[in-house]
Amino acid sequence: MYRIGIGYDLHRLIRRRKLILGGIIIPYTKGLLGHSDADVLIHAICDALLGASGRGDIGEHFPDCDPAYKNISSVKLLKKVARRLRALKYSINNIDAVIVAEKPSLVSYKKKISRNIAQILNLPSKKVNVKATSAEKLGPIGRGQAISAHAIALIKKR
Ligand SMILES: [Zn+2]
Repeated sequence: MYRIGIGYDLHRLIRRRKLILGGIIIPYTKGLLGHSDADVLIHAICDALLGASGRGDIGEHFPDCDPAYKNISSVKLLKKVARRLRALKYSINNIDAVIVAEKPSLVSYKKKISRNIAQILNLPSKKVNVKATSAEKLGPIGRGQAISAHAIALIKKR
């Protein structure tokens, strides 16, 4: 039995923060603002996986008012979600995602990011696909004020 889930997230770009996408540090003058490390891609993927398993969303599982999650690496959150899925006897069929960022260009990072997500989830690299696009200079993302990510996940009951 297959189940599908969708995830979306957006974080504001500010100075004096590291930019972390898919657990990879991307050199840039700004980073994403959030209670955790604000890894917008991992948050979208967590939501897609939780959604597919019918287990709510990342905000319920890791509340941003909880000091335990302050500045936490989102890689840890993704690992927790993966553990929960395994406990529910789900395996991940594949994940597809897109990061929407005007700057920096992610062309040279997206493969590295996909591989890192696959490694975190113990999946063959072909099962995780990460794409990157710009917002054509439109809206807050286009003005470089934020980065967003969309993700979709297909999981299967073992
Ligand atoms: Zn987030």
